[in-house]
Amino acid sequence: MIIIAAHRLYTPSHEILDPLVFIDDGTVRAVSSRAEQEVPNNATVIDLTTHHSEAILAPGFLDIHVHGGAGIDVTRAALTDIPHLNKFLATHGVTGYFPTTVAAPLAETCAALERLADAIESAQNPGTHGTNVEARPLGIHLEGPFLSHKRRGVHPPENLLEPTVEIFDRLWQAARGHVTMMTIAPELPGAIEVIAQAARRKVCVSIGHSDAVMETARAAVKAGARHATHTFNAMRPLDHREPGILGETLTNGQLTADIIADGIHVAPEMVELFLKAKGIERAVLITDATAAAGMPDGTYQLGPIRVEVKDGRCMVGNQLAGSVLTMDRAVRNVTKFAGWSLQHGVRSATLNPAVAVGLGNRGRLATGTEADLVVLSPDGEVKRTIVHGVTA
Ligand SMILES: [Zn+2]
Repeated sequence: MIIIAAHRLYTPSHEILDPLVFIDDGTVRAVSSRAEQEVPNNATVIDLTTHHSEAILAPGFLDIHVHGGAGIDVTRAALTDIPHLNKFLATHGVTGYFPTTVAAPLAETCAALERLADAIESAQNPGTHGTNVEARPLGIHLEGPFLSHKRRGVHPPENLLEPTVEIFDRLWQAARGHVTMMTIAPELPGAIEVIAQAARRKVCVSIGHSDAVMETARAAVKAGARHATHTFNAMRPLDHREPGILGETLTNGQLTADIIADGIHVAPEMVELFLKAKGIERAVLITDATAAAGMPDGTYQLGPIRVEVKDGRCMVGNQLAGSVLTMDRAVRNVTKFAGWSLQHGVRSATLNPAVAVGLGNRGRLATGTEADLVVLSPDGEVKRTIVHGVTA
């Protein structure tokens, strides 16, 4: 039994002062305050307040939209390269993530999905990591190929496809059922049927890369879509007479939605507007990070796309192409952009994504949850990351 003591803890829906977290065999056995629970004699106590008097414990961050980092592109990496990315993500507080594809030729995507399924299945066996602290891939996010030509961003037009259940099934089979999220433009012919089919397979269907009018966005929600991808980016702009996909995303209380809070993809004031609209329960932070995250300026690969990175901007021509954002910075940014508390910022990177995509009891700290934690300073700097009870 390991017991971790800190100054405060975010469950994240509640705050506990002077907390103790009891961990055994990779699982949280109890969360309590120091006043409530005695420390058994045979336990190993890690008192975080010895080095950081204001140490804050929180669930590890979850990133449901990430293409890579530390020079690794998830769709091109060999299975043996993935641990390098996983270590990088863990240094930024991420303990679980969805490797995210981009629109590529179908055969290439299927080969990538097979490799990612291998990575997910190997991460499910905690024995494989030994003493390394590595974020774990938990499921795959298909960003494409069912995207709008008009709102494709940098996804190559020749790789975009009209949705059919047959193609979706081919991707599903290649990923051996590990597709947990799919971004789709609901206005495409055939989209509603594919949305319904994906939702039946418990995929979190997310509307995005879309030029949909309000009515179509609503039809998608009715068919089973329940989330929206990088709100404002690659979406029909908000219009006061035709609210469109953004009107539906911002006003529908049933929909969760995510945003790239790097201050580049969306102006800080619009991030604030988004957070006000979705609130502390439905706002989700993503990074949309590329292989360039954590790397110097230069040229990087995003699936089949060459991306130029200069001064923290990933560009293809004059278009933004993913980010170099890390999840810890996204959390700090929402405290700056919108005056959110660190606790609420943490919630939008932990509990909210877990609920949005249906990740069981991940993204929270309570008896019986996975012992995936991050230790933060009061200003949101990552001090330490713990995965499956393993800490560096
Ligand atoms: Zn993306």
